[in-house]
Amino acid sequence: MDMKLMTPGPTPLPPQVIDVMGRQVLHHRTKEYGEAFDRLCKGLKYVFASDYPVITFTASGTGGMEAAVVNCFSPGDKVLMISSGVFGDRFADICLSMGLDVDKMDVSWGKAVQPEEVKSRLNSGVKGVILTHNETSTGVRNDIAAVGEALEGTDILYVVDAVSSLGGMEVRPEEWNIDVVVTSSQKALMCPPGLTFLCVSPRAVEAAKRNKASFRHYWDFRKAIDFMDRELPETPFTPAVNLVMASSQAISLIMEEGIERVWERHSRMGEMAREGVKAMGLSLFAEEASASDTLTAIRVPEGIKASDIRKHMEQRHGIIIAGGNKSLKGKIIRIAHMGYIFEEDVLRALNALEDALVSCGYGLEKGRALETARQVWDMRREKI
Ligand code: PMP
Repeated sequence: MDMKLMTPGPTPLPPQVIDVMGRQVLHHRTKEYGEAFDRLCKGLKYVFASDYPVITFTASGTGGMEAAVVNCFSPGDKVLMISSGVFGDRFADICLSMGLDVDKMDVSWGKAVQPEEVKSRLNSGVKGVILTHNETSTGVRNDIAAVGEALEGTDILYVVDAVSSLGGMEVRPEEWNIDVVVTSSQKALMCPPGLTFLCVSPRAVEAAKRNKASFRHYWDFRKAIDFMDRELPETPFTPAVNLVMASSQAISLIMEEGIERVWERHSRMGEMAREGVKAMGLSLFAEEASASDTLTAIRVPEGIKASDIRKHMEQRHGIIIAGGNKSLKGKIIRIAHMGYIFEEDVLRALNALEDALVSCGYGLEKGRALETARQVWDMRREKI
């Protein structure tokens, strides 16, 4: 059976990316590698829709989050940390372990932060605001543009975790006043895990230069930028060479499709998933106005076990989805539709979910979900 990973990372790889991963390794100080890394650096600017430099570190997304904190802030600095789920909480933990003074703003899980509330919480001591764009644990999209607008004209550094959105949902660092956007390779960017990418504004680079109090070595933006500014860009330390080549290949596929069309495909898949799920009589976990395009979180109906649904979908249909994290374990299931995933895959996942629910004794009208999702697809089909 053809298995399909519809989890929020890792995500399936395009065949062209698999091909690159299997190639002989290059030395990272050669011209051939430098040219490939140069293509990646330029491609990253395209997917981040920004002219700012994009730093690559060999690490998972969490490493990128720590890199943002240790470069932009020093121990004792006050940051407003907005959290509406597991990944916001993780960012808060990172800030606390780096000795920052964390003002944690907890938003109910399933809801998005209200930009006016962020504004009212700002005071003269705040040096940074940190926000998760797409809270993967709940399927909520925060309005990072509106929060950026609230920060306009201030000296506050604005850091955004776009790990599960970048490449699938619109992000515009310059227009939205974002100083650091963090993402990683294994989600909408269609690459295996192992690289984290940070798009850094001139203000963030300046902050890293001024920052004498924070301890850092591997994560130092200053070193990373110096090495990137060479005739052909390099990294200070040995990079995950094959992942760099693979990411460059994956990004060239995004460039072929066009980033705006990629965002539109994700938005279409999100709507298909939500409408299909509702047609089964299920409820979404995230408030609908703030629902993510890359991931749909669904409440598990009373009396049914999340693990039974997932097992059935995997064993009978080859569709692998995620369960809930932390306090949401057993309460929700999460279907990701990001990266190398297309409308047909969403239909396949809905069909598998419907079948799993029926096998668990849940009453529904068979076929309605698929028909509804197909109608959404038809309505939103690209007119070429
Ligand atoms: N932030 C978000 C929003 C995420 O979805 C994830 C990964 N699920 C992370 C951070 C952490 O990334 P990683 O697992 O690559 O360290």
